[in-house]
Amino acid sequence: MKRTFHFLVLLMSALTAMAATNGPFAIRGYYTTFMRMPTFGLPEWKQMIDSMKEDGANFLFLWTAGGFRSKSFPITWRYNADHKNVDRDYAHELIDYAHSKGIKVVLGFTPFAYDGVNQLPLEHPELKATQKNGQPANFWGLHAWGYNLCPAKEASQKFMRDYVREMFFEFYPNADGLLIESSDYAICYCADCHGKFFDHEYAFVRQISDAVWLAKSDALIFVYPRYFSTGQVPQFGVSGARQKFDPRWSLFFTPHSAPIHDELAKQARSSVYWNDGLTIGTPPKIRDGARLARQRGLSGYIASCEPFSCIDGPPGSHNPRLKPFHMAWLHDGEMPLNELPVRLNRIAYREWTRQPALTDSAFHDILGRELFGANTDFQRIQDVLFLQDCWFHEADWFKPPKLHLPSDLKQQAAREKWPAERMQPYLDRVKHLRDIERRYATATSGAERQLHDVSTWILRPWDELK
Ligand SMILES: [Zn+2]
Repeated sequence: MKRTFHFLVLLMSALTAMAATNGPFAIRGYYTTFMRMPTFGLPEWKQMIDSMKEDGANFLFLWTAGGFRSKSFPITWRYNADHKNVDRDYAHELIDYAHSKGIKVVLGFTPFAYDGVNQLPLEHPELKATQKNGQPANFWGLHAWGYNLCPAKEASQKFMRDYVREMFFEFYPNADGLLIESSDYAICYCADCHGKFFDHEYAFVRQISDAVWLAKSDALIFVYPRYFSTGQVPQFGVSGARQKFDPRWSLFFTPHSAPIHDELAKQARSSVYWNDGLTIGTPPKIRDGARLARQRGLSGYIASCEPFSCIDGPPGSHNPRLKPFHMAWLHDGEMPLNELPVRLNRIAYREWTRQPALTDSAFHDILGRELFGANTDFQRIQDVLFLQDCWFHEADWFKPPKLHLPSDLKQQAAREKWPAERMQPYLDRVKHLRDIERRYATATSGAERQLHDVSTWILRPWDELK
């Protein structure tokens, strides 16, 4: 009897260990830049939430600064006046809808930089940050063009507090918390910030966190590790700060700006690893993101899902409106998540966050069944993986891959005097896509039809070159 009991205890702990290494993540979901999707209204966002639900998500990082009609600081949204949520506020309803599907929502913004915030120096140039060379910050942005702020100035601190308080307490008190995304592109190098930039930034982070927790003690607040570790902060050539970590915080790690810090992660309420896998990546990138998060014992893996529909460039750039995931066939405002290349990434996200140890071949079986039905042949699976790779290989946030722009590609090759072997991989891809286009020419519906249509779409400008 005793022996049986021991055996059961051992079995239970083995099963628990297996679940810990291969069960679903506690936090699963997408990071979205709401403010850079001006054409989506509530109906489209409900579709987005429904899609997330299908993907097994329970979390949405909704980057909101610059995308709501602040009463205190109208300058923060003026550049984004045609955003549907600026025109008529619906994000409150969107958050309620997410909750009805079991999805928590935290509001994202960057302290002293990026969208919304970087507009303030247009009215208050005295708050501009200083560059390394001693000059004031450059006019720069992604969609929201402006200047990053110096956090050593009290007026910058007050603005950040008031702006985020307004966003969280007045506009969206139904949100579950905040993502305080420390900048990945600029800091301030003025005399007051020298060696202390992240201490100044931390002062705001601490104050807003306390204010939020005072009103909502279970609010989730995600912060970056750089305030609590003196290791070098990527991109800036400066060290982080030595502030005390409050275990009520959750941590957000990224491959390019916030390396995973194991000791801090252990102290945090929760911790997630992010990468761009869903927006400009492939299933292997999603797999690797999930596996890394699991290996390091984090609570979640978050993929960026950013179907931009904004206009990039400074005001007056006259650039065309971006198409979500560069899918130029979509109407303005049309949701792209069921288009084949993205759908494939979504399936990858769902499966690898449910089971990070899933093998590639098991994933291919699931993919085949879902897209083409039972007993599909391997050819179809290979074709869909290849097409997906052609969609996102070399894609940039704001630019489609070179394969989609053959005349630019050829000009670049001529300008830079490429040897033939550098062009050959593109030509090989074109040839391969022609085979796919032919193979599915008679398909009338479903993933097979999309295989044909997307191949045709990539090939058309190549045909026009001739
Ligand atoms: Zn400064």
